[in-house]
Amino acid sequence: MKAHDGMYIGGEWRPAAGADTIAVVNPADEQVIAHVPAGTAEDVDAAVRAARAAFPGWAVTPPAERATRIAALRDVLVARQDEIAATVTAELGAPLQLSQTVHAGVPILVAGSYAELAASYAFEEQHGNSTVLLEPVGVVGAITPWNYPLHQIVAKVAPALAAGCTIVLKPAEDTPLTAQLFAEATEEAGLPAGVFNLVTGLGPVAGQALAAHEDVDLVSFTGSTAVGKQIGATAGGAVKRVALELGGKSANVILPSADLAKAVNVGVANVMSNSGQTCSAWTRMLVDGERYEEAVALAAAAVAKYVPGERVGPVVNAKQQARVRGYIEKGVEEGARVVAGGPKAPLATGYYVSPTVFADVTPEMTIAQEEIFGPVISILKYEDEDDALRIANGTVYGLAGAVWAADDAEAVAFARRMDTGQVDINGGRFNPLAPFGGYKQSGVGRELGSHGLGEYLQTKSLQF
Ligand code: NAD
Repeated sequence: MKAHDGMYIGGEWRPAAGADTIAVVNPADEQVIAHVPAGTAEDVDAAVRAARAAFPGWAVTPPAERATRIAALRDVLVARQDEIAATVTAELGAPLQLSQTVHAGVPILVAGSYAELAASYAFEEQHGNSTVLLEPVGVVGAITPWNYPLHQIVAKVAPALAAGCTIVLKPAEDTPLTAQLFAEATEEAGLPAGVFNLVTGLGPVAGQALAAHEDVDLVSFTGSTAVGKQIGATAGGAVKRVALELGGKSANVILPSADLAKAVNVGVANVMSNSGQTCSAWTRMLVDGERYEEAVALAAAAVAKYVPGERVGPVVNAKQQARVRGYIEKGVEEGARVVAGGPKAPLATGYYVSPTVFADVTPEMTIAQEEIFGPVISILKYEDEDDALRIANGTVYGLAGAVWAADDAEAVAFARRMDTGQVDINGGRFNPLAPFGGYKQSGVGRELGSHGLGEYLQTKSLQF
């Protein structure tokens, strides 16, 4: 695959400071497809300086003009959608159809929404005798994961651009090619030099240098809760703004009045999509005692349709494959009943994991508490609504969830009591304007929509 051998800094591809590289591997066949430079603190510093130099000009660029550039960026993403999809498939292993519709498709919706928001957002408010100015925070350090390589980038870069911030991106080491393609897109869209900068590299080296850089005003991180805690501590120590999108263990609550077959089938599809590598995946299915065995049978039948190598791709790398299989083994050890899949890898080549359904899962089991990040569903039984709520709220996470009932009002009443940032009612539909983010240890701050834009602004009040 085509790869740049430098960093995108100050509007040009510059040689990296060091000579180390990172091999990019296709997880479907374990072949090395490219190498990218492994950035160091020196590269990060050069990128932050470029972003700082570009900030004063971009910050005062009229919002309508910023909107025009974001719309142009969206148009490039549309024009290059096939190439983006092929790149995501090559470095993440996602089935091409998923890459087309979700990995390449959703960022187009998000960029489009910020082109509109940049133009319509009220960057000035009046409160009594005060005028409140909403001003860009400054230089943003964005650190993104591999699970939705382009979406996670656009969900940070588009609102930052709309707000008038400049950006240094450190993408995940597993998926740097999509990030390089995005850097090309920012140039094609005519963003001024230095407004967007890219440094590829390892988390503990380039990521750490970016999070700790004294001239970065806001760190926006998506990834594991463990790294998020470190980044939060580093940013807090420097009194720096921080936004954290972390893990999840979301509950799919199927109330007794719900259409069981629909709720189970959509629930299974939700977890199997992207091989379970979705922070908001509904990995815990909660069913009442009376319909429990029926739900287990429906889930097992639904999962059988997700054939590894066809409808479901591999997980991202060998480490994640071992980690997910380790969780499946743990589930067996702790007494859960395997009704589909299991720890054995389904294919000899590629980092595949068997789509797995566990029944008889109790709330304290490891597989009901920790984020597995693979195609694994745990089905738990509840006694009554209060018990369902106690189970749903009984993890350290609170990112997303689903509630199913005969009517929306019943589902909404339950959703109001959930400690979580986003709930799909009777299925829900993706909305790029809906704020996304966590309660509890799932994170700090929100992405998408006007709430996402607000993260990149600071307020100044003028009294008259
Ligand atoms: P990670 O948190 O290690 O990596 C995410 C990003 O942070 C990457 O760009 C990485 O290079 C960077 N990073 C790593 N260490 C860093 C450090 N010390 N300082 C600064 N940046 C650093 O996640 P991972 O190892 O790729 O995945 C492990 C687990 O994280 C997964 O199994 C899953 O549970 C979770 N995860 C969650 C999400 C999410 O969207 N919430 C996404 C990916 C992974």
